[in-house]
Amino acid sequence: MIQLAVANVAFAGSTPSVFAGTLADMTYVELDKAIYSGAVALWAIGAIEEHGPHLPLATDVYIPSVQLLQIQKRLADRKIASVIVPPYYWGVNRVTGAFPGSIDIRPEVMTELMKDVFRSLTAAGFKQVYCITGHYDAAHSRAIIEAVRASNNGMDTRVHYVVPKPLADRVGLKSGDPGFLIANVSAGKPPAHPDLHAGEAETSMLLSAAPDVVRKELIESLEPTDLTPKDVETWRRGYEDAKRVTPLGYLGDPASADAKSGALRLEQQAVAFAEAIAASVSERR
Ligand SMILES: [Zn+2]
Repeated sequence: MIQLAVANVAFAGSTPSVFAGTLADMTYVELDKAIYSGAVALWAIGAIEEHGPHLPLATDVYIPSVQLLQIQKRLADRKIASVIVPPYYWGVNRVTGAFPGSIDIRPEVMTELMKDVFRSLTAAGFKQVYCITGHYDAAHSRAIIEAVRASNNGMDTRVHYVVPKPLADRVGLKSGDPGFLIANVSAGKPPAHPDLHAGEAETSMLLSAAPDVVRKELIESLEPTDLTPKDVETWRRGYEDAKRVTPLGYLGDPASADAKSGALRLEQQAVAFAEAIAASVSERR
C-alpha cells in the first residue's frame, strides 16, 4: 500500500490558492457592484477523475482554476474586470469511468445543472459568461456544448465556451459558431509517445500550479506508456477498454514532467484563452 502523505491542498511559494477569490467569497452587494461595473464571469468546468497513481482526482479542476487566475490578470491588464465562479467538479467520465474516483455524471444532468448556473448568472446581470474546461473527455465537452447552445437560445449570445483548437476539432466545433471561441494554443514539439492523460503535460502543469499535491516520490518509477494509434482508439472507447490499455490510469510519460515546461504550457494557454475572451468582450461593447 502506497502511503500518501498529502492530506490537503497547499501551495508552495507565491503560487496562489486556486480557490481564493471566487465569487463564493464575495457578498451579494460586492457581486452586484462588480456586475454593475461591467465584470464578466469566468467558470472552470472540471471533473473528479483518476489521474494515475501520482496526481490527485481534482487535477482537471486545479489546472483550469489556476488558468482562470492567469486569464483574470491578463484581462485586467486590458481593463476587463472579471469574477470567477467557483469551479465545477462533477463532470462526465466516459474514458476513465472504470477507475475508482472517476465520478461519472450523466451528460444530461450536467447540462441541466450548467443551464441553471448560466440562468442565475445572467439573471444577476452578467452580460457575458466564459467557460473553460480542464477535462478533455469528448462526452464532457458535448455536455458543455449542449448547455451553452440551450442557454443562448432565443437571446443574444451571453454564454461562451472557450475551447483549444484540437479539442474543438474533436467535438466538431467550428470558429464562428455562436457561443464558442476557439483558442489557438501553440502545440509545442510533439511528444515521443501519445501524452493524453496524466502524462508529461498534465503532470508538468500541476508541478507548476500546485506542486504539493503531486506525489513526486512516485513519478520516477512510472514507465512511459507507448501506445499505438489503435490502442489510443481503444482507450477512447472508455471504461473497461481504457482500463485494459492503461492499467495504471495514465497515458503518456509522467517521469519526464518538469515544472518549468508546465509553467510555460499554462502561460501559453492562458494567453490564448485571454486573447479569445478579450476579443469577444470588445466585440460586444
Ligand atoms: Zn486531466
